[in-house]
Amino acid sequence: MIYFDNSATTFVSDGVRAKLQELTDNSLSANPGALHKLGNKAAELYEGIRTETAGLLGAKTDEIFFTSCATESANTAIKGYMSRNKRAGNAVISTRTEHKATLECLEYLSKLGYEIRYVKVGHDGKPVMESIEEELKKGGVALACFTLVNNETGSILPFESISKTIKAVSPDTAIYLDCVQALGKLPINLSSMGADMCSFSGHKIHSIKGNGVLYIRKGVRIDPLILGGGQQEGMRSGTQSPVLAGAFLEALKEVTSEVDEARSEVEKINAYLRKELSSRGAKILSPDDALPYVLNVSFEGFESETMLHCLEIYDIYVSTVSACSAKQKKVSYVLLEMGVDRKTAANAVRLSFSRYNTMDEAVEFIKCVDEIYDQFLVK
Ligand code: PLP
Repeated sequence: MIYFDNSATTFVSDGVRAKLQELTDNSLSANPGALHKLGNKAAELYEGIRTETAGLLGAKTDEIFFTSCATESANTAIKGYMSRNKRAGNAVISTRTEHKATLECLEYLSKLGYEIRYVKVGHDGKPVMESIEEELKKGGVALACFTLVNNETGSILPFESISKTIKAVSPDTAIYLDCVQALGKLPINLSSMGADMCSFSGHKIHSIKGNGVLYIRKGVRIDPLILGGGQQEGMRSGTQSPVLAGAFLEALKEVTSEVDEARSEVEKINAYLRKELSSRGAKILSPDDALPYVLNVSFEGFESETMLHCLEIYDIYVSTVSACSAKQKKVSYVLLEMGVDRKTAANAVRLSFSRYNTMDEAVEFIKCVDEIYDQFLVK
């Protein structure tokens, strides 16, 4: 099997699997909110995991909140910030190339009467700086929402310049940054980055599904999305799970070690595939300077879904548009926004790699593409 669909989700690592076994022991399974000694033990374990997670992300312990997924983190951050900070302004700036986790929150806000201003995006998938400035200068921008690495193309946000521009033009605008596809692939130090809220997802870094993280910089006030027993300082109610938090931490430890080594192997795979696929007439849609973990390619003569199923015959797994919306059979709105024509976008397939992929798999992939061209391409 060749699994090139790691931006959709990753396989659980052996280390995470072992950690789950360890953390599901009955002696650690009491409610961390319970007053007895078993509860205290679970609470201590949980807080330890939280502190270690914060340390690896360059944050303080009380800036880290465990959620069920990055979608929940995004909902909490975006809706919660706008609900709590009404006096900061009525507008949000963002791009139309965000993940649906962000776009749907913005759509929801617009129905509530907030003004959503979408900035232009270039052919490289990056927001146009002048457009950001222009929208900020109109005033009233409470929040800016961006994504560090685009999940469909691997386009990397020039976050430092964007954050500088925001601070210079509209210093009171808070920043929400989706870091889902960047974690373990780009260096992340939350205390020096300049974002106010960030989201992360466990299942994109070889943890299990059902665990995410929300970073909220100290001093930033938001209304919680999930109300209840007041766990996690009231920011995210619901009994804490040391198992899920521990799985996230274990995965985080693994992906933040040997980042350069992992990346250099993925760079080789990406460069090889770019060259081989281009020489066969496929069009590379990921920008040249994209993160090597994502490679968006358009195969002329094959609609995205046809190519996906052809590859599946060879036990090779890829994506069409982002997995969550793949069943709606839509052409990628991200590619259209970048100026890719509809026909090219309709033939686009996303290959996405992890630290566990190898060059042998890339070579095998090309062999299979050759066979698919031979067998199925109508000349
Ligand atoms: N943001 C980005 C960039 C993603 O790629 C994804 C998942 O595809 C999400 C957010 C949502 O993550 P989750 O599945 O943890 O809700």
